[in-house]
Amino acid sequence: MPRPILATVHLGALRHNLQRCRAAAGAARVWAVVKANAYGHGIERAFGGLRGADGFALLDLAEAERLRALDWRGPILLLEGCFEPRDLELCSRLNLWHVVHCEQQIDWLAAHKTQQPHRVFLKMNSGMNRLGFRPAAFRAAWARLQALPQVAEVSLMTHFSDADGQRFGREGIAHQVQTFVAATADLPGERSLCNSAATLRHALQRQLGPDGRQALAADWVRCGIALYGSAPDHPAHDAAHWDLQPTMTLASRLIAIQDVPAGDSVGYGSAFVAPQPMRVGIVACGYADGYPRHASLGQDHGAPVLVRGVRTRLVGRVSMDMLAVDLTPVEAHGGPCHLGDEVILWGRSAHGPVLRVDEVAHAAGTIAYELLCAVAARVPFAVTDD
Ligand SMILES: *Cc1c(COP(=O)(O)O)cnc(C)c1O
Repeated sequence: MPRPILATVHLGALRHNLQRCRAAAGAARVWAVVKANAYGHGIERAFGGLRGADGFALLDLAEAERLRALDWRGPILLLEGCFEPRDLELCSRLNLWHVVHCEQQIDWLAAHKTQQPHRVFLKMNSGMNRLGFRPAAFRAAWARLQALPQVAEVSLMTHFSDADGQRFGREGIAHQVQTFVAATADLPGERSLCNSAATLRHALQRQLGPDGRQALAADWVRCGIALYGSAPDHPAHDAAHWDLQPTMTLASRLIAIQDVPAGDSVGYGSAFVAPQPMRVGIVACGYADGYPRHASLGQDHGAPVLVRGVRTRLVGRVSMDMLAVDLTPVEAHGGPCHLGDEVILWGRSAHGPVLRVDEVAHAAGTIAYELLCAVAARVPFAVTDD
C-alpha cells in the first residue's frame, strides 16, 4: 500500500470561487492566474474548474503550451513577458498575449519576424518597483510599441504592492491607482490593475462609488489566490468572510499512536514535553511532502489539524516524513483513535469540518500561497467534482 497521504483538488470549489471573483469584478473580464502550476493544484487538474474564466494568466511558456494542449483557445497572458527573443516565436505560434515591462522586450519585438501581430500588455511600475516602466517613461514605451508592425494592440497594466491591507504607513492602493490613472489618462487601450485582494476588497468600497469601482476593476482583473480558496487579506478577513471554498485538501492518516507519560518528549530535539500523560498520533506527512516545518517548533506552538474531523494541534517538531498530533480532544469527542483514522492537514474532512489553509500558513509564519505551491511531487493527487 502506498503511503496514505493524498492531495485532492475540488473542482466545484474552483468554480464557486471563480464565480465569487466574477461577481466582485463587475463588468470586468477575469483572468484566472494559474502560474506555479495553478498554485500547486496542477494546471490539468484545475482546468476543469477554471475553464469558465475569460483567460488564463501565467508566466512559464511550458505551462502556456500545456493549456493549449488542453484545447484552450481563449486568451493566455504571459505575466512576465518573454525571457529571451526565441520566446516570441512561441507567442506567435500559440497566440499568447504577453506583458512588456522593459525596453529590451520591445527591442526583441521590433526584431521579431511574424505574420501574426501580437497583443501586448504594457506594464507600469506604479510603485512596487518590481517590473514595469516608470510613469515618466511609460508614454514613450507605449508609442514605440504602437508603431511596431509586430504589435496588434497595446493594453495597459500595473500591479499593487499593498492591495491586501495597510502596510508601512502607506494607504493601500490609492497612491498606485492615482499614479497609473494620471499617467495613462489619454492613452487608449484596455486596462488591468487588480489582483485577488484588490478585486475582493475594493469592489466593496462604498466610497469609490460605482464608477470608481468599475474604473478600478477596469477591463480585466487578475485573480489567483482567491480562486484557490484563500483569503488574500488573511488574517484581517478569513475565507468564510469572502465566501471562498477550499479547493485543495491535504489528507493523511494515523500510522502510529503513542501513549506518552508525563515528562516524556515527542520528536526531534525533544521540543515538546508532555505536561500530563497523553495519547499522541503519528501522521504520515512531513516537510518532504511540503508541509511547513515551522508549523510546529516549540512547546506551545503547534498548527491546527483535524483528526476524524475534530480540531487539535501538532506537538513536537515536524520531521521529514511524519508529524505528531495531540489526540486528547479527538478521543474526548469520539472515543479512542485507531490506526488509519483520517487526518486533515488542510481542507475538508469527510466528517464535515473544514480547516483553512490560511490558518495553517499563519501558524507557520507564512501565507497560503507558499503552502499550496509547495506540495511535493511525491504526494499523489486526486480530483473530485465537489
Ligand atoms: C500572481 C499575480 C497575480 C495574482 O495575484 P493573487 O494575489 O494570487 O490574486 C496578479 N497579477 C500579477 C502580475 C501576478 O504576478
